[in-house]
Amino acid sequence: AKETGKARCVVYNHQKFTAPEHDVSMEAAMFQGVRDGEFLMHYQPIVDARTRQIVGFEALMRWVRAGQGMVSPAQFIPMAESNGLINLLGAWALKAACVQVRRFEEAAGRPLYISVNVSPRQFRNDQFIDILDEAMRLSGLAGQQLLLEITEGILMSDPEHAESVLHAMASRDVRIAIDDFGTGYSSLAYLKRFPIATLKIDRAFIKDLPTSVKDAAICNVVLSLASHLNLTTVAEGVENEAQLNFLAAQGCGMIQGYLTGRPLMPEDAMELLKSGQPM
Ligand code: C2E
Ligand code: CA
Ligand code: CA
Ligand code: CA
Repeated sequence: AKETGKARCVVYNHQKFTAPEHDVSMEAAMFQGVRDGEFLMHYQPIVDARTRQIVGFEALMRWVRAGQGMVSPAQFIPMAESNGLINLLGAWALKAACVQVRRFEEAAGRPLYISVNVSPRQFRNDQFIDILDEAMRLSGLAGQQLLLEITEGILMSDPEHAESVLHAMASRDVRIAIDDFGTGYSSLAYLKRFPIATLKIDRAFIKDLPTSVKDAAICNVVLSLASHLNLTTVAEGVENEAQLNFLAAQGCGMIQGYLTGRPLMPEDAMELLKSGQPM
């Protein structure tokens, strides 16, 4: 009876939790949206915590769904991941972002970097390195100016494969960031094994700064770890001056969040860069 109950519960949960990804109308709309050019990229400024100058941007995907307005990537990325469309969308996003940052640099009159999210399925795709080469060739972007954001889970699920992909990236001077650092697997062994350049501290640890004693301690330790391992750091979701001041004082290199600016359309990011104003 216990077994049966458990099985039923599993089936129930399965249906319940996979339902959004089996939303046929949303899925059909997504394929149509790709065909109709409803996907676009926005760019959020990343700022040097001390000088407050823009040093780069994170490329964030948007879906302007016909008749429905902007759909959050939190909704459509998981679906694209499960139906495989992420390979197409992700390859397009990488190329678009690499080309766009060259225009940003022209507007700014100085080098900038671009940070691009790579999903697990993209990372596992055998063609990923070819797509990377194509994006770099097409844009003429130097490897050092490209930061690929991956999550801890990608490294843990198949370390052998991850190692070969990361070394292929490193041999092109492309840098790797751990996105949402501290929220995934707690192992730190991968920091020793893999060529990681940057830790992005998740907003979960930033949002209650500087009042939360626990978050302050966590940020402190992560920043100290990064400094000892020669990794650069980006704090995500920084919304106010008090958070910025705390992070800058603790040695955090870069910050990103509504304080540095909302994710912007390319034209608006260009205007911001042309104005030459620090944050
Ligand atoms: P993420 O990589 O952690 O991106 C940061 C998210 O935090 C973005 O949400 C950004 O708009 C939001 N954010 C930035 N500053 C603040 C702030 O000060 N406060 C708050 N509350 N939020 C802030 P967004 O754009 O909705 O993206 C959600 C997630 O979707 C991303 O999380 C990323 O995992 C995924 N995603 C977005 N674009 C892409 C893409 O091109 N490819 C892939 N594979 N995933 C993407
Ligand atoms: Ca990210
Ligand atoms: Ca993140
Ligand atoms: Ca996050």
